[in-house]
Amino acid sequence: MNLHVPSSTAVALDPAIQKFLDAGPKFLIDGKLVQAQAGATIDIRNPATAQVVAKVPEARAEDIDLAVKAARRAFDQGPWSRLTPAERGKLVYKLGEIIERHAEEFAQLEALDNGKPISESRAADLPIAYNTFYYMAGWATKIAGATLSPSNAGEYHAYTLREPIGVVGQIIPWNFPLMMAAWKLAPALAAGCTVVLKAAEDTPLSALRLAQLIVDEADFPAGVINIVTGYGETAGAALAAHPQVDKIAFTGSTEVGKLIVKAAAGSLKRVTLELGGKAPTIVFPDADLDRAIPGVTLGSFFAQGQVCVATTRIYAHKSIFDKLIEGVRDAASKIRVGPGLDTATQMGPLVSATQLKRVSGYVQSGRDEGAHVQVGGEGLTGSDGYFLKPTILTNANPAMKVVREEIFGPVVVAQAFDDTALDKLAAEANDTEYGLAASVWTQNASIAHKMAKRIKAGTIWINCHHVFDPVLPFGGYKQSGWGRENGAEAIENYLETKAVTMAL
Ligand code: NAP
Ligand code: MG
Repeated sequence: MNLHVPSSTAVALDPAIQKFLDAGPKFLIDGKLVQAQAGATIDIRNPATAQVVAKVPEARAEDIDLAVKAARRAFDQGPWSRLTPAERGKLVYKLGEIIERHAEEFAQLEALDNGKPISESRAADLPIAYNTFYYMAGWATKIAGATLSPSNAGEYHAYTLREPIGVVGQIIPWNFPLMMAAWKLAPALAAGCTVVLKAAEDTPLSALRLAQLIVDEADFPAGVINIVTGYGETAGAALAAHPQVDKIAFTGSTEVGKLIVKAAAGSLKRVTLELGGKAPTIVFPDADLDRAIPGVTLGSFFAQGQVCVATTRIYAHKSIFDKLIEGVRDAASKIRVGPGLDTATQMGPLVSATQLKRVSGYVQSGRDEGAHVQVGGEGLTGSDGYFLKPTILTNANPAMKVVREEIFGPVVVAQAFDDTALDKLAAEANDTEYGLAASVWTQNASIAHKMAKRIKAGTIWINCHHVFDPVLPFGGYKQSGWGRENGAEAIENYLETKAVTMAL
């Protein structure tokens, strides 16, 4: 989130993007751009205006089956599996370069489709997406087994082989459409798998533009990357249940994550899950508020708060509570809310009418349970878009729905604490079924690292929030998921280990 006020300019769509939308985006299956077999389509809306901007094909079980079979052939018969690791790494790197070359077009598509400010998609979504390909490309040549020394009587030569799992089904959400595609595709391809990626029904445009660029500009063998769009209950479920898929990598809600596990049980395919969160941010009395105020503001409202690691529960010491909340309230009230394709916009609309209804329902529930709306809680007058202003709730308590459940919108709930005993504070932070991320604000390094140890979450930020990098493993404890994306761990997600033992 760009916290200084930029000048206002409506961005005109790049002619290449306009042409892509007008021609009708297509699936990528077996190296070709194709329509859905049944000819069904989904209307794609600009959340800033509620107007339809494109129609995309809707995958059904028969399209998923074609894509899985193409991925199966590409994996089982090559030439993909016969490429050297260096050749594979080069293709992955080149895909990053293609995205970087077309970054402005993708940034526009994300703003149009998801609603996020273009300043944000330019500064965050795009660099993270192509840098993920650059980082993962390097792993292709560094996958290695080990030599082992069994203690059995006799002499052995024993070693492990690390092999790609095979055909991977990947299902992604709508909050960071291209970035989520990158987090899935890059490590799977670097590890030597083939993939069928299903983009979210609300935001399929950047994935389908990537599909087109893969055909036009990349050199992957046919069937290695297949990209489809469709509804979760049909296309997603068919992918999760398909017997020829070896692994499902899923990002989305905890509720659907549990359905994926059930669907995968039929063939015991491997499953990794990146699910929901309810991140606490803990502000100690000695925190540097000049950093904590903008940090908490960014943590709460970046990407309209539709982030699984968003700051959703503020715990601030009572001695600085009022000053912190006043500061965040002041910053929140100055955030320029508007259409994603305006360069001055600092926060866009929510992704869909459904999401706006859901998030507004939580604000109402907070009010009903006695929370005070400090700022926000309402939309933009005179707009048909799905807007909700940055919202801060105080006078909250641990039993409230808004404190317990994931809201996934620009709504943050603040509570004051008195007792600075670290175990007690950590217990409060950990009083959730989720465990994705947390942040701690203090100038005392000892307190910071003690809290980092005590909080049960996959990511801990100290004096910062929303710092992402391909080198940092990302994922959840508890019901926030299974496995990690990014870092060396992401490659592990896509490998099997084989032990080879020879009697000498
Ligand atoms: P969602 O409803 O779980 O959807 C995620 C994806 O799963 C979409 O592609 C969806 O298709 C598909 N899907 C839905 N039902 C399915 C089924 N029965 N079988 C197979 N696939 C199915 O989540 P969302 O509302 O899009 O995204 C918000 C959630 O994602 C939040 O809970 C958030 O915390 C979580 N999230 C987690 C991370 C992370 O890294 N941990 C990152 C981002 C978001 P449709 O497009 O048709 O809905
Ligand atoms: Mg959309």
